[in-house]
Amino acid sequence: MNKQLKTLERTVALQSPPLTKTKTDALRYIYQVYGRILVETLEYTWSNNTASWTRAKKVLYKKFREKYHDIPSHYIHEAIRDASQRLKSFLKLKRKGLAHTDKPTVKGWSVGCDNQLWKLTLSGVKIATQKGWINVPLQFHKQFWKYYNGGWALRSGARWKIVENKLYLYVVFAKDVEVKRENTGKIYGVDINENNVTIYEYPAKRAVTIVTNFSKVVLGYAYRRAKIQQRWSEAYGVSGNRRLRCALRMLRERNVKRDIKLKLVRKVLDVVKDGLAVLEKLPKRFQDRVIEKNKVLNSIDAHRLKQSSIRGIHKVVIEKLAEHSIPYVLVNPSHTSSACPICGSKLSPMTGCAQRSGWKPRMMRCPRCGFTHDRDVIGAMNLVRKYLLDVEGRAVDLPKGTHDPRVEWSVTAVKRGVEVQPVLARPTIT
Ligand SMILES: [Zn+2]
Repeated sequence: MNKQLKTLERTVALQSPPLTKTKTDALRYIYQVYGRILVETLEYTWSNNTASWTRAKKVLYKKFREKYHDIPSHYIHEAIRDASQRLKSFLKLKRKGLAHTDKPTVKGWSVGCDNQLWKLTLSGVKIATQKGWINVPLQFHKQFWKYYNGGWALRSGARWKIVENKLYLYVVFAKDVEVKRENTGKIYGVDINENNVTIYEYPAKRAVTIVTNFSKVVLGYAYRRAKIQQRWSEAYGVSGNRRLRCALRMLRERNVKRDIKLKLVRKVLDVVKDGLAVLEKLPKRFQDRVIEKNKVLNSIDAHRLKQSSIRGIHKVVIEKLAEHSIPYVLVNPSHTSSACPICGSKLSPMTGCAQRSGWKPRMMRCPRCGFTHDRDVIGAMNLVRKYLLDVEGRAVDLPKGTHDPRVEWSVTAVKRGVEVQPVLARPTIT
């Protein structure tokens, strides 16, 4: 077993109650000056073709210091560094052909602070301004205390922005975790779909499908939200509509989604904890690409919603795997749901398309070797196969041919509030 250290980071947002006009004005002044320095520096580094922070600082720092002599000088350093980081990531996007504009632009920003510019207190945060330290009360929430008291270290840098008369502070927690590489030989293919997560265990030839029906939840809320919005905005107009906001809050949409996600992730971790997890690598602009591919779809919005929920689950699973130091790899997912995991031929579907309501197995059959199973189980099997072939470079020992097509398979569900007993599903083989 070899041990490796890995640093995890989590950003936590804290919000202030509405601030007094004096405080808001002082903070907004810094926010705007910071933005101006950011834009100017970006302009300079772009036209002079230098992404070097130190070089930009040498040329620009003195000029900004004279122009904005009243604000703490560290803000100028931070803004210049911010600009050079933005330029670097823009150049990276451009190299990959993903940049939307010809030159870097500043759409929004938050003010970067080093440890000289902010201090957490018992009731909030102190922020350095042109008028000395300003005390900003904050609403500390459960999530903050969980990290704060849970062995995470607070990073010395933070960011903040001011929206209307409230301050949003973004702090970063970090934690070193050991990545265990105890080789149990177990490999788990984890296939994440709109309505279920399917895990295939190798070499035990066992599969489990955890049904979430997340798309139903997501779509249901989308329709209900739209209805509420329509009803209240017809009566009172959209902006500043307190009753609309109240009605939306009553939906508790976020809580419900988070509850399902966390329960799901707990189940996934419980299965894969003693082995290596193989997940698909989602492209950076996953949603856009799916939508472009399916331009003919009538319900593009519905589709986008569902896809974004896959992304969210994928992200949480990976975060939790890292946090519990379970090793994982990401593999390229192409053809994982359309190729036979035994012989690699193209599969043909046996039953209809995806079902909107409820969950039913969707069987696929290989015309060459006769292997038949549910398409999500096949997806998970193919992830393991991909990993074995591409990463470890060894031959695959998945169930062979028509004579041994059995993959033990159980289906269980995640529901809000109640724990559901697992039931055994039998794929019908024809
Ligand atoms: Zn086959």
